[in-house]
Amino acid sequence: MNKDFDYDVIVVGGGHAGTEAAAASAKLGSKTLLITMNINMIGQLSCNPAIGGVAKGQLVREIDALGGIMGMVADSSGIQFRMLNRSKGPAMWSPRSQNDRAVYAIHVREQLERIPNLYFRQDTVNKIVAKNGCVHSVRTTSGQTYKARSIVLTNGTFLNGTIHIGEKSYGGGRSGEKAATGITESLHAYGFLSGRLKTGTPPRLDGRSIQYDKLEIQPGDENPHPFSFLTKQLPGQNEQLSCWIAYTSPKVHDLLRLGFDRSPMFNGRIKSTGPRYCPSIEDKINRFKDRDRHQLFLEPEGRNTYEMYLNGFSTSLPEDTQISALKSIPGFEHVHLIRPGYAIEYDYFPPHQIYRTLETKLIKGLFFAGQINGTTGYEEAAAQGLMAGINAHQHTIDKTKVVLNRSQAYIGVLIDDLVNKGTEEPYRMFTSRAEHRILLRQDNADYRLTELGYQIGLIDEDRYLKFKKKEKETDELSKAISSYSARPSSFNEFLSLKDQAPLKQSVKIPKLISRPHIELEELIAIDPELKETTRSITSDKEVIEQINILIKYSGYIEKEQELVKQIDLNESKAIPKSIDYNRIQSLSSEGKQKLIKIKPETIGQASRISGVSASDIAVLLIYIKS
Ligand SMILES: Cc1cc2nc3c(=O)[nH]c(=O)nc-3n(C[C@H](O)[C@H](O)[C@H](O)COP(=O)(O)OP(=O)(O)OC[C@H]3O[C@@H](n4cnc5c(N)ncnc54)[C@H](O)[C@@H]3O)c2cc1C
Repeated sequence: MNKDFDYDVIVVGGGHAGTEAAAASAKLGSKTLLITMNINMIGQLSCNPAIGGVAKGQLVREIDALGGIMGMVADSSGIQFRMLNRSKGPAMWSPRSQNDRAVYAIHVREQLERIPNLYFRQDTVNKIVAKNGCVHSVRTTSGQTYKARSIVLTNGTFLNGTIHIGEKSYGGGRSGEKAATGITESLHAYGFLSGRLKTGTPPRLDGRSIQYDKLEIQPGDENPHPFSFLTKQLPGQNEQLSCWIAYTSPKVHDLLRLGFDRSPMFNGRIKSTGPRYCPSIEDKINRFKDRDRHQLFLEPEGRNTYEMYLNGFSTSLPEDTQISALKSIPGFEHVHLIRPGYAIEYDYFPPHQIYRTLETKLIKGLFFAGQINGTTGYEEAAAQGLMAGINAHQHTIDKTKVVLNRSQAYIGVLIDDLVNKGTEEPYRMFTSRAEHRILLRQDNADYRLTELGYQIGLIDEDRYLKFKKKEKETDELSKAISSYSARPSSFNEFLSLKDQAPLKQSVKIPKLISRPHIELEELIAIDPELKETTRSITSDKEVIEQINILIKYSGYIEKEQELVKQIDLNESKAIPKSIDYNRIQSLSSEGKQKLIKIKPETIGQASRISGVSASDIAVLLIYIKS
């Protein structure tokens, strides 16, 4: 076959999953082709021009620690940075950036174009071909066939996509872009099941038509944290743009209700389920009838545009209803609509059909990542894309595939949830989904995952050495302050200013830090000898913050680590691939059905499948032992 049509890995789709997948497999050495419908739309933020947020920020930090690109691009294209949930414990801290939509996409493309092994083709895939249970090639609407050992599908909201605005419905993958047809049907022929999901987006507004003095301002953080270990100074840090807060009112709700009889959500035209935690404004009004206002965030789309995104006002109501309701929001009386909100329905493949490597169970070498697996969100998509790209590469060289555990990363939680629990509504990440969240903090993502990223081959030597230095400094600083005695004469004045009990005798520094509102940097500033001791080790603020967190939360962290150890004993017990569940008579019939459907690889995974009971697990353990 002509080598222009023959690759190690093909990635279909240039969204957030596809770009991470293509970058990872090409960096690891696979000759990779990224086929996408429109090259100019690579890295497009389909909805909100923002990255991170609660639990999603943790995902981005993990993607970065493993060597993915999302964190670097979010940093370089950021126009506002905030650490959410600062007032809560560190497990809840979540970085978020507002981004310049156009610059974000340009920077994604720049990152990809730097990778020598990565090739691009603008085309639309309409058929997947498998031979003897292995993936073989893709066919495109231009009539070409491209062959590869591994193929990653990341089609987002494009598969048989239908856009809805009021009474209008038409085919589309995103506003102004065509839907993709053929792939779903070609996968049905191999036995795959598909479903339909729905998501929506709010209107975009002309910022010059807004009266900002009627809104609340929401500035960025003074000392923002970057997402990426590689970003030492955020380019946009000193010129951050503000977001704004507005509110709906009973009048706005009444005007929106006038369009309900023409709403595709309420007249039965939209049949599929949307994201429960990101409802449309019409859904919010309908579900929470007693609420007389809802908060809205007006967010800039970039530095060089006046287009604004109205977060919280996702809608598929008719355009005239959208306009009249918008004009009754205080501050929006003269608003000019640039693009109306809309909803989209699309095909997805229920994720019990993939392994935790993201390889499909029906076709070897075929991987799914992103919205196609039933998730919603750029970060969720990018996380899966990265893992699919790594494993697509591993598949081409017959090496063991990489799976992250639930106690190792949010990425592990995400994929484990998808595979074992499935999803019938768009799945988004929350901190509450991670049972070990005190271990999976955004601040320690580098400590948790850089070593693995290096072993996989996505973290280069230079970054690895910098990380090892940081790790060593953290260890040394921890040891140094643990043996340093804080004398009452040095610290009692400071403690009384903080309304804290004085020291009666010398204590080790960690004892002081474990008190509320006492931080290591304050103690260093007071005591010249402590300053000297610590300065000879590090002045890195992130290392000092890490020590504060490790000391303040040591009780919780140690307890959780102990729990993880106990769980790991079962987690890693492998279930033989050849197991025939039909022959195990004492399994419950529901448990048996689910085990046959999901094919768990370990006892731990089996124990998290809904419908598999504790007694099913006991039966399984005895059977495997015998
Ligand atoms: C209207 C709308 C509203 C949304 N609202 C939210 C929200 O509120 N919150 C949130 O977190 N997320 C939201 N999202 C979802 C977010 O955009 C996606 O979760 C995320 O972009 C998914 O990433 P992905 O890589 O899976 O797919 P996408 O980013 O959709 O990328 C898919 C890519 O695949 C390409 N492609 C598709 N089919 C083919 C084919 N056959 N051949 C070649 N190329 C193909 C497309 O051109 C595109 O480049 C919304 C998306 C849309 C469209």
